[in-house]
Amino acid sequence: MATYITEDCINCGACEPECPNEAISEGDEIYVIDPNLCTECVGHFDQFACQAVCPVESCLPDPQHVESEDILINRALKLHPDDDELRRKAEANDYPSHFRS
Ligand code: SF4
Repeated sequence: MATYITEDCINCGACEPECPNEAISEGDEIYVIDPNLCTECVGHFDQFACQAVCPVESCLPDPQHVESEDILINRALKLHPDDDELRRKAEANDYPSHFRS
């Protein structure tokens, strides 16, 4: 499940630098999340990093993009091919994930 930004977004920009995958950008009217880059922070954090900083609770799980933890950790590995620590954690099945918190 990717995360998406609701129309309540006030364009504060707080979420953009928090994303480990640079999935968040300024859209035409509000900030947007690229679902192809969103990993729900699996592998990096045990919560949605954008959700944690959004002052108006606009970063929400997208019911239109439901994905398993397995798919998301594999996406994280593809997005960060040089991150040896992430790879080690994934191989040990010991990585941060909101599915496990
Ligand atoms: Fe919009 Fe929330 Fe991101 Fe601020 S943190 S830009 S209000 S989605």
